[in-house]
Amino acid sequence: MNNADITFDAKHIWHPYTSMSQPIPAYPIVEAQGVELVMPDGKRLIDGMSSWWAAIHGYNHPELNQAVTTQLSKMSHVMFGGITHPPAVNLCKQLVTITPEPLECIFLADSGSVAVEVALKMALQYWQAKGEKRQRILTLRHGYHGDTFGAMAVCDPDNSMHGLYKGYLPPHVFVEAPQCGFNDEWNPADLHPLEAQLAENSHEIAAIILEPIVQGAGGMRIYHPAYLKGVRDLCDHYGLLLIADEIATGFGRTGKLFACQHANISPDIMCIGKALTGGYMTLSATLTTRHVAETISNGEAGCFMHGPTFMGNPLACAVADASLSLLLNSPWQQTIANIELQLKAELMPLRSHPSVADIRVLGAIGVIEMKQPVDTAALQKVFVENGVWVRPFGKLIYVMPPYIITPEQLSKVTNTMAKVLG
Ligand code: PMP
Repeated sequence: MNNADITFDAKHIWHPYTSMSQPIPAYPIVEAQGVELVMPDGKRLIDGMSSWWAAIHGYNHPELNQAVTTQLSKMSHVMFGGITHPPAVNLCKQLVTITPEPLECIFLADSGSVAVEVALKMALQYWQAKGEKRQRILTLRHGYHGDTFGAMAVCDPDNSMHGLYKGYLPPHVFVEAPQCGFNDEWNPADLHPLEAQLAENSHEIAAIILEPIVQGAGGMRIYHPAYLKGVRDLCDHYGLLLIADEIATGFGRTGKLFACQHANISPDIMCIGKALTGGYMTLSATLTTRHVAETISNGEAGCFMHGPTFMGNPLACAVADASLSLLLNSPWQQTIANIELQLKAELMPLRSHPSVADIRVLGAIGVIEMKQPVDTAALQKVFVENGVWVRPFGKLIYVMPPYIITPEQLSKVTNTMAKVLG
């Protein structure tokens, strides 16, 4: 990639959440190996982001490469309507085994946002099949569930795109997010806003959707497991479906395979994506119980009304199957516990820095919340100059590195985080 390519990119190619008239710089990366991203001049950046939670095993992993090339030589894609294939069956066998019981019916979709759309549609069709008109979804402030319309409508109304699309998004029900942090003493008052809302409006609510334990893009807030358990109990009490969006938290990131396991609960519907393929390709899944699946299937439509062109893409399923095996055959609990210990040891001392509002660590997630919003482009420049890839946003400088990061590499990441604080 030369300068002309970079200029072309800036002029013609949209990047995530970026202006076309005044884009912030996009750094050229031509290769990625292990935990490192490689720039055209050979400069290497230690990746603190796992490509937005996805690349848990790092890049260019021989076993994942092998899974893709083996599948490529057989069949890269075939329609899923009326056809099935080994990669989908193998992957789903593993998913049924490792996800909380009684989740066992799986819809394969193409991205996290689509998995959320599918979950919301499942909830609506479930109530339709039961002959009840329930179309409102209850969710938490500070939540984030994706960028498509259904998903946007359940993102935090202030901290997202609600304002821009006002009048176009269905009005759902929002309650205060939990205030008790993961390690705080549990205060049952955290559940009061939800309890009050349900006492009044539960009859029109189809489902509660939330990110279990870690609210990601809406603020990197890490809340108390007792809250999640309380939500599950309230859903049971009022007969509501619980949708857990594990798209960011799934596959070990929080120290448990799925964040729901911190509270020993199982949702009625669960969305997974991101790390599902080890970050190789886009694939997501929405899992539900036989009860929900059968209720939907016995309803008016007689089926679930969704079927993407690239549903169950064999390449994506094959690499997801390999990625899961790789994870499960590794000492992932110990690996993530070690990353957590190191993140705590190296980030917590920054708590006393005058610009820092809070430090939060859980599993392989480390968050510095600043008192003021940061200048993403300026900070990113310093990170790159120091050979580290971190992309801050809002008031947050946060990392979720690939699990294969070495202690030395992780120290370089946290040292640079300390350095950018000034
Ligand atoms: N849910 C959560 C919790 C997420 O973090 C994201 C992605 N940031 C999504 C849904 C949407 O996933 P995707 O970007 O793959 O559509």
